[in-house]
Amino acid sequence: MSAAMTLITTLGLTDDFLSSYLPPLQLEASEQDLKPIHQTDALKPILTTAKTAVCWEKMQSAAAQDGINLYIISGFRSVQYQLEIVNRKRKAGQDIEQILKVSALPGYSEHHTGRALDLGMPGMPALTEDFEHTKGFSWLQKHAKAFAFSMSYPRQNPYGIAFEPWHWLCDA
Ligand SMILES: [Zn+2]
Repeated sequence: MSAAMTLITTLGLTDDFLSSYLPPLQLEASEQDLKPIHQTDALKPILTTAKTAVCWEKMQSAAAQDGINLYIISGFRSVQYQLEIVNRKRKAGQDIEQILKVSALPGYSEHHTGRALDLGMPGMPALTEDFEHTKGFSWLQKHAKAFAFSMSYPRQNPYGIAFEPWHWLCDA
């Protein structure tokens, strides 16, 4: 049994539930694959793979030249940390179906790969569908592909995950 599956058993989900869970398993990046990105005003550096960092730096400066100020809200997350997020929400009284609409099961988050970034703009709605209405989102829709980024969870995506206009994956 993989480490991720061992962690998932601690959530007490039924086999039926797990077999109807659609997102694919994601490989967790190892420590030596990860590189810190330091952002002004951020308490902790964001970790991503080296290639993702290169793509991000190019994309961020191209966006800045167009007057669009993008920053990273979240990059790499470990499987263990994802479990803590899910457990915290359960303790706060949410049921697992509710939680899994917005948080992946541990082992299934693209953030484990170190190639997924949650993006935001200063002063703009963050991590909500309203990010769709920002200039930053329009810019990303036009230009992200040129920097190897694509939006993983559009509306009606095949994984049953809520629309996440802020979540972009680097395929470099
Ligand atoms: Zn994300």
